[in-house]
Order: sequence, then C-alpha cells, then structure tokens
Amino acid sequence: MLIVPGWLDDWLDLALGSTCVVCERPGRLVCDSCERELPTEPRQVWPDPCPDGLAPAFAATEYADPIRRMILLHKERHVFALARPLGTALAAPVRAILGPAGRTLLVPVPSRPGVVRARGHDPMLRIARETARVLRAEGFDVVVCRLLRQRGAVADQAGLSAAERAANLAGRMAVHRATQRALARSGAAVRVIVCDDVLTTGATAREAQRALEVVGVQVRAICCVAATRKRVPLPK
Ligand SMILES: [Zn+2]
Repeated sequence: MLIVPGWLDDWLDLALGSTCVVCERPGRLVCDSCERELPTEPRQVWPDPCPDGLAPAFAATEYADPIRRMILLHKERHVFALARPLGTALAAPVRAILGPAGRTLLVPVPSRPGVVRARGHDPMLRIARETARVLRAEGFDVVVCRLLRQRGAVADQAGLSAAERAANLAGRMAVHRATQRALARSGAAVRVIVCDDVLTTGATAREAQRALEVVGVQVRAICCVAATRKRVPLPK
C-alpha cells in the first residue's frame, strides 16, 4: 500500500487545486472556516437497543453532513487528505477520556480484507493514525495498535437490523496473537480504546470488544467519529 504522508497530501491538494468538500468554495479540501466548524464537543452515545455489556461509547458528532460526506469521500472515493480532519474530530472523544499518565492504545475496528483490497486502503486505520498524531503533539502517550483482524467473510451490514447485525458479526473478529504477545511482554499497563468511524447499532464495536476481552484485554471505551441518531418509526 502506498502511504502518502500528510504534508504531501496537503501539498498535492493545493498544487492540483480543489474545492472544499463542505462549502464547495475553491481552495483546500476542507477550508479553514469549515475546519473551525468541525465538532470538538464529544458526547456519550447509547445505541438503542444497546448491545449487552457495551463499553462506554463516545462520538465526536452526529452522523450527518458535513462529517457524513467526509467519511464517505474518504472511505469510498479515496480522498485521503480527509483523514486529517476526520482524525482531528476523532481526537475529541479520545482526549476526553485520556488519563494524565500511561499509554493509550487506539485499536481500529478492522475492515474486511476483501474491502481493503478493493478500496486499496484501510480507512479506519488511516484515521486512527491521524488521531494518534494529533494527541501525541499535545503530549499524550497514544499509539495505534492493530490488535484486531477480521475472520472469514462477513455479509454487508447495510440494511440489517440490530439483531441481524449482531448475528452476522458474532465471532468474526479475533486478536492478532503475535501483537498481543508483544504487548504482554512489554508489561506496560495500557488503556485500550476501540475506534470506529460510525457507530450505528453498536454491534461492530461490541464484537471488537468481545474479541479483545476473550484474550484478557479490557476495553476502556469505544470512540467513533460519528454516531447515527436513532430513527424512531413514524406512527401509522
Ligand atoms: Zn469550506
């Protein structure tokens, strides 16, 4: 995979010319005034129904434009420069639960291998790396750790109910044992935060948490860029 450093991304963005994906004015991909509008007030979120035992979940914002558009452009259209503002947004909920001392591991929810191959990149990994970069610059000891992997095929989650999503995902994630052993050998106490782009039913986050807890890794929290608002069916 070709890794483009952030500064090069930005330089290409400026050199090639673009329009702001939020306000569509010519200039940077996210212009300065739109970047200032990005969410910095994290909130705790509860999927409804909430999967049993889900760790406390936090989101930077609601899953709505412009964040929704940015997530989709980054994930589906490979607008890699958006990893920076999305990573900055994700830093808000992570920052809110960081302690003053000790190392924090950001564990990105893994994409399906087929999806990574098809898209040519792992969107959540890229966003989490930006989040870690932002927080390290502020003096926090935060690193990204790819502890999780997908096991086998998972059907597309779109259009499934909460219960169907949970069944679809059950047992589908596992921990990379070599990474876990290396972590255990280091002996350091760490705080583990599972990171995802969008929290919908919480089924994906819960499966990630289950896979970690099965090998004795406790999850402090789930942090995501955006959470969907519960849609209440209209009365007939
Ligand atoms: Zn703008």
